[in-house]
Amino acid sequence: MKQIEQGAFVDYVKINVEAGDGGQGCIAFLRDKLTAFGGPAGGDGGRGGSIFLEGQRELTTLLDFKGRPFWRARRGAHGEGKNCSGQAGEDIVLPAPLGTVVTDADTGEVVGEVLETGQRLLIAKGGDGGRGNQHFANATNKAPRKAEAGWPGDKRTLILELKVIADAGLIGLPNAGKSTLLAALTRATPKIAAYPFTTLTPNLGVFLASDLQRQITLADIPGLIEGAHDGLGLGHRFLRHIERTKVLVHLVAPEAGEGEDGQWVLNDCRPDTLLYAWKLIEAELAEYSPDLPKRPRLAVLSKIDLMSGEERDEVLAAFRAELGVELLPISAQTGEGLDALRLAVEREALALDAPAGPDPQPEKAE
Ligand code: GDP
Ligand code: MG
Repeated sequence: MKQIEQGAFVDYVKINVEAGDGGQGCIAFLRDKLTAFGGPAGGDGGRGGSIFLEGQRELTTLLDFKGRPFWRARRGAHGEGKNCSGQAGEDIVLPAPLGTVVTDADTGEVVGEVLETGQRLLIAKGGDGGRGNQHFANATNKAPRKAEAGWPGDKRTLILELKVIADAGLIGLPNAGKSTLLAALTRATPKIAAYPFTTLTPNLGVFLASDLQRQITLADIPGLIEGAHDGLGLGHRFLRHIERTKVLVHLVAPEAGEGEDGQWVLNDCRPDTLLYAWKLIEAELAEYSPDLPKRPRLAVLSKIDLMSGEERDEVLAAFRAELGVELLPISAQTGEGLDALRLAVEREALALDAPAGPDPQPEKAE
């Protein structure tokens, strides 16, 4: 799989969809050279066009919907004489990224989710055509002057939300080394820089599990900062992507860097500093959703190339003692610990395969 990244990432849009109304049934009677006053022969109206979303793995953003938020399918043609049914209105099929959740903006009802390539989700149903007068003849009325109007198509305002689906999501403070790690673990080449918020879109990467069959997808979730759950900073809109990952890989690292407002100066590797960073992120997650603290978690100490063996051991011991958390030490720079981490992610992902619903099954690398 190629790296999935889009310059303009859109993961929330409101759209209006109007399915086509059904065509009217026709009132007509057979009249030709041989029949002066024939029976009823009004055809049915055509069905109005419906609107569907169709899953497409290559798509990673709802950007196209932002540019075109209004869709209207054609109405069905009216029925005609000689029992001719009106032609159905053409359906509209809109490509959508996997992980798109559709909600009715007025009722809050979840309309459905797009989870697989090729899956079609009906988001606005076209109206049925009205029946022509051919259907209304009976023993007492052989020449009914009655036909149905077409039925209206669905007209609704929908919210499309993209929730990235991945086996594992990388979380941690800005600059913890998430993007670098994603690149090192997979063939993805996300943007990497020494300043926070480089990652404005959740990048996806993939590596092959040790059975050489299953592919493990990893999502790099952009940096969370304090107050992210309140919509402060950039973290908030990305938290939704964590909802769909089976395993969270939580990175702590020395030199966490600083946030936009300059609040985060964690340029050290004291155990207390790293514990603080860990708790901060965990508090954010818990605040956002009570489910997230229960999500399986791998704890990773990254950038160990920047620490002495002693400093590293101190941090490991502190996490063990205070949180009962066993940190997996790695360096994306030197590659140390990456095999162990891949295996650990794989183990968690496979363990969760069965009950976790649809398997993302990414396509083979090109
Ligand atoms: P993110 O904000 O969590 O995605 O962090 P990045 O991956 O963008 O990394 C932030 C900075 O840390 C960059 O300058 C990286 O080069 C650096 N970095 C990431 N991983 C390592 C590592 O294992 N060792 C060292 N020395 N630097 C790293
Ligand atoms: Mg990043």
